Order: sequence, then structure tokens, then C-alpha cells
Amino acid sequence: MSTLITGADLAGAGRADLLIRDGLIVEVGTGLSAADAERVDADGLIALPGLVDLHTHLREPGREDAETVATGSAAAARGGYTAVLAMANTEPTTDTAQAAEHVAELGRRAGLVHVQPVGAVTKAIAGRELAELGLMARSRAGVRMFSDDGHCVSDSRVMRRALEYVRAFDGVIAQHAQDPALAGPDACCHEGVLSGRLGLAGWPGVAEESIVARDVMLARHTGARLHVCHVTSAGTVDVLRWAKRAGIAVTAEVTPHHLLLTTDLLAGYDPVYKVNPPLRPSEDVEALRDALADGTIDAVATDHAPHARHDKEHAFVDAAFGMIGLETALGVVLDAMVASGRLDWAGVAERCSIAPARIAGLDGAGGRPAQGRPLAAGEPANLVLVDPTARAVVDAAASMSLARNNPWHGRDLADPVVATYLHGRATVFDRALVPEQDRADEERTA
Ligand SMILES: [Zn+2]
Repeated sequence: MSTLITGADLAGAGRADLLIRDGLIVEVGTGLSAADAERVDADGLIALPGLVDLHTHLREPGREDAETVATGSAAAARGGYTAVLAMANTEPTTDTAQAAEHVAELGRRAGLVHVQPVGAVTKAIAGRELAELGLMARSRAGVRMFSDDGHCVSDSRVMRRALEYVRAFDGVIAQHAQDPALAGPDACCHEGVLSGRLGLAGWPGVAEESIVARDVMLARHTGARLHVCHVTSAGTVDVLRWAKRAGIAVTAEVTPHHLLLTTDLLAGYDPVYKVNPPLRPSEDVEALRDALADGTIDAVATDHAPHARHDKEHAFVDAAFGMIGLETALGVVLDAMVASGRLDWAGVAERCSIAPARIAGLDGAGGRPAQGRPLAAGEPANLVLVDPTARAVVDAAASMSLARNNPWHGRDLADPVVATYLHGRATVFDRALVPEQDRADEERTA
């Protein structure tokens, strides 16, 4: 099957046509024609390399009442993603080669995005004994990123050993940076004036900053790659800026919600805004935006965290942490970063696709070019077509995700994703998921 996409602006670099055959971009230029190709008019649209999410909770195996690999993949495709990193805190934990291969296989079966398993750093994410890092890396799943996300690898000795171990195969440890001694078991929001007024136990920015400071020094000592998940505080940005200047191999991500939402939203005790790490004050949000703009923070990652209603719809203190975000991520990035002139389209491509693919070591699967630059001839046809002006009021009920813990419900947001292509095949077209039957038909005729 061949597709000719005409007149798209290639990540802000100018308009061109893209000819796609057998899953690859085979020609890029103006005035292209191909008699056998399906023609897609992309006049007025921007083409970006398929988005890559470094931080997705798909909940399967174990919590299929909250999300499955199939429903999470559908939400990802609808959001413009062609690859997601599936976090390891499932039930059972992804801490063996077999478990990692199982998640990858579920992803292949869903067939909507490349699902790349993240391996746990420690067995059962208990923080004590290293998981089978080498076996996961050598498995068919080819795990390169390891994380105990949801929990911090707080034991310095364990963190050091993990970094030493993954260095051998250019793996990366993705840390949920939060000192449990400073963020106690009851903590459920940012520690500040508001948490005091609401009578909620808070956790301070320094709980994150102190772990990041320790970890960048461990990364320097071991020479291994460290990735900092969901940065929330201006102090962490200072540490990262210093570490990068010192040549330490550290990368970092920020979530869409931390780029646009602030801790004031907690005043109504709505559990939809309860998230770990917590929403912070506007000074932190400003620092995060600046850091994403200047590259101190490398990537946007959703931390898509679906929950069943019976886990989330509780009094604030009892509700589960987390919010969904795959379908709205790009819209939030446009509103928070592009509308204000902090990022241009090339910047969006870098932060939402190219950098995350590089960090995760994904070759060709998502937005990372297998050989050259994205959206060039010879590269896998993983791309998203974006309408830069479209807006919509978010409706949680319309989500592809099984979950409804959507903090954007009822908000007017940029609604950019028109079509998503995975290896040349439309997974989303005209803003709707392409039915499985149609995708299978395309495959047969390919
Ligand atoms: Zn986390």
C-alpha cells in the first residue's frame, strides 16, 4: 500500500509531499505523483515525526479494569504517538525477561503503537534487590530503560549498582525522584501555604531536588546514563542545569500537566488533580517551561496514569494518584509552549519525539530516524499530521482510554492531531481511530 501526503509543512521546515511505500518514506519533494498511491491532502497541516512517550502506565497485566495495552495504545495513537514506554509497575511487575516480552507481545497484538516495555530496577519494585536487568536487556523485548516508577530507588547503594550495571549496554535508569524520608506516606500534595490551609500533608520540592542531586553525582561517578522522570520543581531545574554543564549524562522529562496546572486547583479537594509528583506553584511551572524551552529538560512525557473509578473517586486523601494524558499531551504543549513562542515546530518535534526516542534507545520505532533525520526518504513512516489552529473542549467521555480521570475535562485546549501513521499505516485518520478491519485490509494489500 502506498500513500502520497501532499503539501504538509515538515515540522516548520517548509512544505513538501511525502511518498510512503511499504512502511517507509521513499520520497520527499514538491509536485510528487504516484498513480497507485492513496492521496492525502495535508494542505495547512504540519507533519511531525510520530510522538514518543517515555512514561505511560498501561496497567496490563493486572489492572485491566483501569486500562489495557489495547485501550492505552488507542489513546496513544489518538494523541499522535507511534511509540510508548510502558512502565513496569504492573501486577505482576515487569521485572523479568518473560514479563517484558509479554508486554511487548500485547503491544504487537494491539498494533497501534510500538509498545516498548520499561523494566523494573529492583525485584517487585521493592527497592532492595536488582531485577534481571541483563536478561531483560538481552530478551526479545530489548529493554533499555529501567525504572521503579511510582517508587524512588532511594537506597544509594542500589542506585549505584543499577547505574553500573546498565552502563555496559547503554541502558538508562529512569528515576522517580522523591526521598521517602522527606515525602512521608501521608503526603498527597505540594507542601506550602495551601496544603496547611487544606489540612493536607504535603511534600516539599526538596524531596525531589535532593534525590536528583544525589543521582547526578552517582551518574558522574559511574559514567552511566540517568533519566529524571516528571520534574516538578525549579530547584531540580537548577541541579539539572549544573549537571549538564558539567557534562554528566543526565536527561529529564516534564509532564504536560506540570506545564499548565498549578497547586491552587487543589482548593476544591477534587481528586482528579491528585498526582504524584504533585502540582506545584506557578513559579515552578514557569521554571519548567523555561527549562523545556532551553533544553535543560529534554522531553515531554505524559505519565498517563489511568485509574478505575472506584480507585479515584474518593475523598482527596483516599484517592489514587495520577491522571490520564495521552490524548491531550500535544494540545497542552501547544498551549503552554508554542502559543507563548517558547517552542517552534522543530522544537516540538525534538522534545516530543526525537529526544524521547534517543533517550529510550528506540531506533526507527517512534520518531527516531533509523539513519538520518526524521521525515526524510529512507526513514520509517512514523508521523503525525497536525492542525495548528484547531481547538476543542475536552470531553472525558470521548476518550479512547478506559479511564476517566481526566484533568482537562471541560477545558478548551488545542486539538491538533488529525492523523497518525505507524509504519506507513494510518492508525488515526480524520481524528478517528482507524478500525482494526481497515488496518488489516491495508496490511493484506500492502
Ligand atoms: Zn513516577
